[in-house]
Amino acid sequence: MVRVRFAPSPTGPLHIGGVRTALYNYLFARKNKGKLILRIEDTDQKRYVKGAEDYIIESLNWLGIQFDEGPHTGGDYGPYRQSERKPDYRQYADDLIEKGHAYYAFDTSEELNEMRERLEASKMMPKYDAISRSTMKNSLSLPEDEVKRRLASGDDFVIRIKLPRNEEVRFHDEIRGWVVVNTTQMDDKVLLKSDGMPTYHLANIVDDFKMEITHVIRGEEWLPSAPLHVMLYRYLGWEDKMPKFAHLPLLLKPDGNGKLSKRDGDRLGFPVFPLEWKDPSTEVVSTGYREEGYLPEAVLNMLALLGWHTADNQELFPKDKLIEAFDISRVSKSGAKFDLKKAQWFNHHYLMQLANEQIASSIQDEVKIAYPSFDLSRLSAAVELTKEKAIFPSECYTNAPYLFQRPTLYDEKTVAKKWSSEMESAMQELVAHFKDTPSFIEADLDTLVESYALANDNKKFYYFPALRLVTTGAGGGPPLFKIFEFLGKQEVCARIEESILNLKQHA
Ligand code: GLU
Repeated sequence: MVRVRFAPSPTGPLHIGGVRTALYNYLFARKNKGKLILRIEDTDQKRYVKGAEDYIIESLNWLGIQFDEGPHTGGDYGPYRQSERKPDYRQYADDLIEKGHAYYAFDTSEELNEMRERLEASKMMPKYDAISRSTMKNSLSLPEDEVKRRLASGDDFVIRIKLPRNEEVRFHDEIRGWVVVNTTQMDDKVLLKSDGMPTYHLANIVDDFKMEITHVIRGEEWLPSAPLHVMLYRYLGWEDKMPKFAHLPLLLKPDGNGKLSKRDGDRLGFPVFPLEWKDPSTEVVSTGYREEGYLPEAVLNMLALLGWHTADNQELFPKDKLIEAFDISRVSKSGAKFDLKKAQWFNHHYLMQLANEQIASSIQDEVKIAYPSFDLSRLSAAVELTKEKAIFPSECYTNAPYLFQRPTLYDEKTVAKKWSSEMESAMQELVAHFKDTPSFIEADLDTLVESYALANDNKKFYYFPALRLVTTGAGGGPPLFKIFEFLGKQEVCARIEESILNLKQHA
């Protein structure tokens, strides 16, 4: 049974890269008929941010990434918050000490700094390791009775892993293949902090083991920690239960220059968070995909393709198709560039899949505020006219204000190029024809204007720009007679007459 987990730390809003990690775990779980677990890694109390856990859950819920187990849904493998499992971790740290794979270290931060400076000065990597630990204050270097005395008198200590001096650690990554690191490149990381809390490394391994996680799918930034994790599995005697690893490629800035950071979003003009986030301490608001008008289906599809693609490079994948097609071995090793145009392209595509009524109901509150006298029962019909050119639902009304109110402003360029006394009289004649016509539907209006043009030795489209100008104020937009149909005969005629007067004043 496949069991995977998404394990965010509640240190702030969930970054879009984190959402992609959650998504790949979700797709992998569903594809393999396994379980997806949410685990909150909140052992770092100093970095804990209020509201972050709720934000994470709300974001993933908005995107339709459902968990089978987690702090919000429960399950048989809890607790799902690391802070609630504190005594367990201590027990495993003690176990490691007993087996000789970990030790107490009493160094103060000044002493640690001195050690780093000393090593740096002699051009060595500043590490607490098999060599440097003999110069430090720990249970391997101090006499046994001093260690006992320090522990008995409650001196501050941490527990560190004891790594061997020169040994290769190998593991297979589902995306990167074999990874080999020598312990000379690693340090004796802290497993248990002086406040009794485990570090990420210990808590993560204990939880993955206890929750029977089969695959660890996470961001590339955790790749350097993986060898240490492999050693922990070995030392805890769990090597045969060790999950498989898959480290996902980084999400890069649009120009490919470096990792997409939390600060990039508002700077580069697109959200990097799924939902809007107000920082509780600074009150600074960062934009979110949801509030910007992105549809969850579009965000999912776009994120899925940032680092993964099928052999035939297909692009459009609704969620069920994604689950079907997803294959972890096709995830790429190299970073994926965020592409705003592509994100918008997906949004337009999924917007077009929605029924007009659905779009209308998602924007009706805004429309009510913008155009209080507009009859909302006609909103779906307006959406039908505008969605073709819209990326976001709100553009279905912001792109075409003339569907909601009479024009008062006129596109300068069109006025300069297309408006003349000849056009003014033509418009007057056309109003008369419109008033007389029994049918005000697109095809008939088209025939009417065409025959008027022919009768005046002009081409079919000769009067179109001026007609659009006097009825909408705009220089372009949806098919003109579709707009006329929407507005109705009376309104179209009234607009033409009113605009002729407005444009006189304008001139
Ligand atoms: N808590 C880690 C994070 O915030 C989890 C990394 C992992 O999945 O092992 O990303």
